[in-house]
Amino acid sequence: MDFIKTAVEPLNRTDQAYYFIFSNNDILVAGDSPDHLSIPRIHEKAAAEMMLDGIRFFGRYGDTDCYCARILSKNLPDRYKLVNLRALYGKVDMDFWSISGYARQIHDWNLNFQFCGRCGQKTRVEKSEHARVCQGCRLVSYPRISPAIITAVIKDHRILLARGINFPNKNMFSVLAGFVAPGETLEDCVRREIFEESGIRVKQVRYFKSQSWPFPDSLMIGFTAEYAGGSISIDTTEILEAGWFTKDNLPLIPGKQSLAGELIEWFVNSQTL
Ligand SMILES: [Zn+2]
Repeated sequence: MDFIKTAVEPLNRTDQAYYFIFSNNDILVAGDSPDHLSIPRIHEKAAAEMMLDGIRFFGRYGDTDCYCARILSKNLPDRYKLVNLRALYGKVDMDFWSISGYARQIHDWNLNFQFCGRCGQKTRVEKSEHARVCQGCRLVSYPRISPAIITAVIKDHRILLARGINFPNKNMFSVLAGFVAPGETLEDCVRREIFEESGIRVKQVRYFKSQSWPFPDSLMIGFTAEYAGGSISIDTTEILEAGWFTKDNLPLIPGKQSLAGELIEWFVNSQTL
């Protein structure tokens, strides 16, 4: 992908830059067809008319500068609309899907760290990198990433799937996931989270792949693991239901754009007759 991450803003703004404009969980897009949307390329004057706040340069796609911002106006210009960032997948080119996730995280961090968490004074933006420095005590904050493990647990040609309380779709089952705690390794986290949420002990924890997941700031780190012991006993504060599924009786599962979907696809493909 021809995208360079940088906080160093060019001296002169180019005629038409990409603007990744957010309103809570939505992003502003252009396009008449619901299945093909685009990130708006606008010039500075048009951006000023949109009542944008927190404009921040964050990189360059090809020769084109990229900014993120928040829109304050309720009235959107013609041809533009707000769509949920999760719903953007498949409706914009993959490069823009990926850059939108990065833009969202830089944007959220800028909004959420305007004041120092230690002394409460205002922070100011560093020009050389994505960092905010407290004007009182000099505490520096960087864009936050929250690592989380996600694991396909396999037992006798079946995969452990669960319905989570916080899933957007309550009918959907997925592999188990959880945030990494301070002081533990990723493998420790896999063993702890799976046991806490399902009562299942695992072994043979192996790295699969990772994925940036900007909802709002996760880095998902995927693993596979084998059943080692225990029976299903769910943590009812996080899980509604859990069970073992063969490749032929899978419930509603996530799409392949998510690492969860990829892990389940890996399980299906690994099953031979
Ligand atoms: Zn401070």
